[in-house]
Order: sequence, then C-alpha cells, then structure tokens
Amino acid sequence: MTRRLMLTGLAVGLAFAGLAAQGDYDVAASRQLAGATLVYGRSFEYVRELTDTFGARLTGTAGYERAAAWAAAQFRAAGIANVATETFTIERSWERGSARARVVAPIDRSLHVQSLGWTPSTPEGGMEAEVALVTGIGPGTIAGDASLAGRIALVDPPDAGGDAAQRFSLRQQLAARLRAAQAIAMLSPDGAPDNVLAARSGGSGTGIGVLPAAQIGREDAALVRRLLGQGPVRLAIDWHNRISPGPAQVSNIVAELRGRERPDEWVIVGAHLDSWDLATGAQDNATGVAMVLDAARAIAALPTRPRRSIRFALWGGEEQGLLGSLAYVAAHAGELARCVATINTDGGSGRVRGFFTPGREDVAAAMRPLSRALLSDLGAAGLDPSMRYAFQTDVGPFILHGIPALDLDPDDVPYERVHHKANDVLDNVNRHDLSVGAAAVAIAAYAIADAPRPIAAALDRPGVGRMLVGAGLDRVLQLRGWWTPGP
Ligand SMILES: [Zn+2]
Repeated sequence: MTRRLMLTGLAVGLAFAGLAAQGDYDVAASRQLAGATLVYGRSFEYVRELTDTFGARLTGTAGYERAAAWAAAQFRAAGIANVATETFTIERSWERGSARARVVAPIDRSLHVQSLGWTPSTPEGGMEAEVALVTGIGPGTIAGDASLAGRIALVDPPDAGGDAAQRFSLRQQLAARLRAAQAIAMLSPDGAPDNVLAARSGGSGTGIGVLPAAQIGREDAALVRRLLGQGPVRLAIDWHNRISPGPAQVSNIVAELRGRERPDEWVIVGAHLDSWDLATGAQDNATGVAMVLDAARAIAALPTRPRRSIRFALWGGEEQGLLGSLAYVAAHAGELARCVATINTDGGSGRVRGFFTPGREDVAAAMRPLSRALLSDLGAAGLDPSMRYAFQTDVGPFILHGIPALDLDPDDVPYERVHHKANDVLDNVNRHDLSVGAAAVAIAAYAIADAPRPIAAALDRPGVGRMLVGAGLDRVLQLRGWWTPGP
C-alpha cells in the first residue's frame, strides 16, 4: 500500500515536472546547437560589430536606430523571414553633449563631471555659484532649506535606510525638492573610485528632469567637501545636452521562427539592444544581443523546427526602465496566455553558471532534468530562483504576467567592473564565456519550445501578487506604475 502510493506519487511528480523523461529532449538538436555556437559561432563577431562599428546605443538616438536596423538584417541573414520592427514612444530623446565644471575659488581646479541622463542643460554660457553641501537626505529634510537658494547642491547619496519603495521615491523627488529650495543645479558623487563616472539617469523614464544635474568623480567630490570645511567654494559649470522638442519613436526588433506543431504557442528569447552612452555597451548588453542573434542563427539552421514558435526580441529603452519589453507586453496582452516561457540575457559574458528562475522554485524544479541532461557539460546547469535582478532587466514585465522566466546567470564580476562606465568595451569581453552563453541560450530555448508540455504553469494574478509581497517588491513596483494589486 505504502509502496503503491509512493509509486503513484512519483508518477504524479514526473507529470508535474513536465520535462522529466530523457526521451523528451532532442539531444541531436542540442549537439548541433552546441557546435554551431561554440565552434562555428558568430557571437564575438556580433559584439565587435555592435560596439566598434555602431558604438553607444542610447535609446531614442540615431545610433540606436542604426543598430536596430543592423540587428533586423542579421536575423534575415540567418534565414528568418518574419522580422518585425515594433515601435513605442518615449517622452523625449536625450543626447549627451559636453560637461565642464571647475572650482574657481578658493583654488582653481578642473573637475571630472558628466551630465546625468535626461537632465536639462545649464543656461547658455554656463553658471557660477557657491556650493552647498546637502547631507542626510531623507523624507522632509531638504524642502525649505534657505541655504540652498542660488547655489549648486552637492548631494551625498540619499540615506540607504528605508525599504526599496522609500529609496525609489526619494530618488524620484530629489531634484524637485532641491529646486523647490531654489538650488540652481545638482552634483551627485559617483560611488566608483578613481574619478570614474557612470552618470546614470537623473530619474526613471524619459521625461526631462527639473534641474541641471551631473555626476562628479568620487575623489573630486571629496576635494570639494574638504574645501567646504574651510570656507565658501565657488564653481563654474557648463553642461550641454541635446533634447528632442517632442516625443520620439523607438524600435524593438522581433524575429519569429514558426513552430512545427503548435505555432501559436511561443517562447520569447530577448535581450536589450540599447546601452548606456559613456562607452559602447559591450557587457551591457552587446553580449546579450549577440547571444540572442547567435541562438537565432543556430536554431534557424537546424533541419527541424521546434514544436512551438520562438520569438527573438531585441528591446530598446531598458536603461530607462524596461520600456521596450513593457511596451511589447502591453501591445501583445491578448496573446500572452500562449507565451509558455521567456528567456533573457543581460548579465554580460562572465562564466555562465546557469539560469535564474526569478521567484519560481517550481520553474527551477521543472528545469532541473533539462539542465542536467543538456547544460551540464557547458557548466551551465545551475538554477537559482532569486529575484534580485527580476525587475532590473526585461524578464520583469513577463514575470508580472505570471509567465515562467529564465534569466541567464553568468558570474557578474566582469560585468560589475565595467557597468555603465567608459571601460564597457570589447576588450573586456571573454570570447569563450560569451559563446558558452550563446550555447546555453540556444539549447534552453530550443528544448523548452520543443518540449511535449510547457515547462511550468503560468501564475495567475493572485499568485503573482503573493510572489511580489513575499519578495517585498509589491510597493516599489506599484510606485513605478508596473503593478496594480487586486483581481
Ligand atoms: Zn543591461
């Protein structure tokens, strides 16, 4: 009796695991995909072309759109006929011009600065003013501070206290509160040493900030603080940015390979094509784009299509708040019930460990047999249900619709070292690790699209809500306008 129950339990377990039996995988297809990406791959060549030829791909710029047209041509060259350009609208496009800052009293010294993204220029001819140090920023500690009137605010990072939602709203309100206190510009120190700058966006989204704002190198900021300890410090600043007069259109590129048995069900394999603009976005995220392109090329060359369709997507607007993938999910809301999984790659080309399955132990469990059978020899069989990057990359919008998500999990040390900085260039991409990433993405995408049953069930809205509350993410996602609780 006990034994029979155990066996029944095992059978039910296997049925729920979805992809349990070895016979469920097309091992020959996996072998061909491994050869096509690891030995005869093009991923490094794709990265080289994206970075050295096209350069920075800031959302809304001509450079981004040129790279999008190139990517569409690469899908077609891989033999995929169905390649669509799907556009979405941003409030304003923004491009960095020159940014200069100098201490003019009590000493004369040039400073390392770069404008924060989507912030306005200083008035023509620049400005000269005293610096006011703003420390201990928390709710209610800036507004009405008369000492800021007519001054350039050098802000310490907002208090790390509070939860993610409090920190988010503080960052969003900071410039408006400084302006309400009549500050004329904001300088915010970078966290990285050696006066290296990342100069990320002033806020989230593509609206223009209310105050000219720039990042200042860490050591330069420390110098200004020391000088302020002795007396008044005057700065001359001159920051130029080009801002579109009205909204701008941005292209997502989506290429589809139709499935052989259930073409209306699909797996979506994506990466963001846009980059930050101080370098050429090699690790973030030309490597991810290259993995998607090479996976598409390798899968399109197989003699047999997978059972379901695969859509290969390259997103714009990721750096401004997942804008491209959010727009796609909104435009395709009516068919998301037939999206069986999403695979994303945005972690650079560190040594691949496997995949995150954000928030979903059940997806990790369902993937385990597949990963062991097909990804172990790549060293990519790891499965981690952590949500730490879930809403920092383009899996987020799909997770909010309950769709099982896999996010490639490379060692992130090489990525963090260059993230958004001037050194995010081709030289720091490891060719071998990159091709392993392409192989892992291609093999997982094919196996999931080809599996007899979907890898795991979609979560319903209450289930997604419970997952977000459990991870402490529901409030910050509400503030961002990405999640509304309730049925
Ligand atoms: Zn990225």
